[in-house]
Amino acid sequence: MYKKTLMIDLDGVLNNYTKYEEDYIPDIKQGAKEFIEKLSHNYELILYTTRNSKQAIEWLQTNNIDKYFKDITNIKKPAYIYIDDRALKFNGNFDETFKEIGNFNVYWKKKL
Ligand SMILES: [Mg+2]
Repeated sequence: MYKKTLMIDLDGVLNNYTKYEEDYIPDIKQGAKEFIEKLSHNYELILYTTRNSKQAIEWLQTNNIDKYFKDITNIKKPAYIYIDDRALKFNGNFDETFKEIGNFNVYWKKKL
């Protein structure tokens, strides 16, 4: 069965990310394993991260979700959907997108 590809970001999507630390990847986010497992039935999953891939693979293995990913990359590859904590859905309207960029907040950053 042909499966569409999903590219899934690591930091801020699959883990409890709050700030970048080179030698440490935060703990897996609650529900992430079930989410990945469920998606893997119908989609080909690629992990998208700018982190060192060896470090990212170890994290996937530690959390026992490495088997659900077909590949790991820092290159934007063809995919059906990209899942990222730092993304805007472009709706074709530059003015709206310009405003959204100005108002953008990652969900995991506490509002003051
Ligand atoms: Mg991220």
